[in-house]
Amino acid sequence: SGWRAADSGRTLSTSARRSTVMPAWVIDKYGSDNSVFRFTQNASFPIIHYPNEVIVKVHAAGLNPIDINMRGGYGAATLAMKRDPLSIKKAGSEFPLILGRDLSGEIMECGLDVSYFKPGDEVSHKPKSLSHVDAASIPYVAATAWSALVNTGGLNKDNCAKKRILILGGSGGVGTFATQMIKSWGGHVTVTCSQNAEQLVRSVGADDVVDYTSGPVETKLQALEKFDLILDNIGGETESWALGLLKPWCGAKYVTLVTPFLRNTDQLGIADGMMQTGVTIATKAIKHLTKGVHYRWGFFAPSGPALDDISEMVDAGKIRAVVEETFSFAQVPQAFEKLEKGHARGKTVVTVT
Ligand code: NDP
Repeated sequence: SGWRAADSGRTLSTSARRSTVMPAWVIDKYGSDNSVFRFTQNASFPIIHYPNEVIVKVHAAGLNPIDINMRGGYGAATLAMKRDPLSIKKAGSEFPLILGRDLSGEIMECGLDVSYFKPGDEVSHKPKSLSHVDAASIPYVAATAWSALVNTGGLNKDNCAKKRILILGGSGGVGTFATQMIKSWGGHVTVTCSQNAEQLVRSVGADDVVDYTSGPVETKLQALEKFDLILDNIGGETESWALGLLKPWCGAKYVTLVTPFLRNTDQLGIADGMMQTGVTIATKAIKHLTKGVHYRWGFFAPSGPALDDISEMVDAGKIRAVVEETFSFAQVPQAFEKLEKGHARGKTVVTVT
């Protein structure tokens, strides 16, 4: 969309005379392909509902694999609970729905309690050295990498120096970002990727690169010194061998980003889904703890302070944006098609204005 409010009763704005509609790509139902997309010049302009919200004019939007899943309804039950906790609205009241969660833009309006931002600010706060396109490629993967590596994995700028970190899936959005973050903190990074991504992953700092397309990757990894932390961007059968690559009995952790959390709540409802999730993770964590290693799930978690730290690292030249391809706003369906083909080499970004 052209504009987003951070969420959605109280109108508190300085905007009495601005348009009440805006151009946007919307979906009117969930679906597994791009036929559900509809372009409209007349999407409702967001309003500030709570005093801590802002409205941002989007200049560029980053795409993430979760956008494809959400086009198909992934997370719908959980998000419906957030939008409408008392279940007052009819099923389907989220439509027409605007997808997307990553952006760079300019603050248009602020709720009454907002003091950190003011209209005209480039958010959030955008690294000064980056264009909006480059800046839009960063927040979601950065907040995910930060949450997984720092909050869940326990890494920080002061404790990485002697650590060996393995990133399964180093060539996509999260992998290229996480590699740069750990390298800027002095850690040693090994990544797995396709052979034709080696140059890219080395360019963002990977020390050791293991090609997963020629022979069993676990055998090659088993020949290396063991690791202090594994970030798994791939999931599935990796769980059957990856934890054996950790140093036992010294606090080493395996953090996977590929979890059944939202799928459980979508399929089983919030309460049963959460219970199922709790049972699954507890069973796995206990099983691995008996072998001296920690098993954890990592999640995207929005964090202003983390983004501010990252912004400084970008402006200091320690982290760069890795944008593989950009699309115009008219090409949003093509951008989704590209994302859906997989084999990302960094990020896909849509320019909006
Ligand atoms: P991308 O699509 O940007 O990158 C995935 C990368 O992995 C591609 O470069 C792909 O290239 C590579 N790849 C595919 N298969 C393998 C394999 N077997 N071994 C090594 N590399 C492989 O995804 P993101 O980086 O944005 O996200 C990574 C994962 O994390 C996704 O599954 C995503 O859904 C999940 N995620 C979870 C979050 C959470 O809150 N839990 C938040 C953010 C992401 P190629 O196929 O050419 O090798």
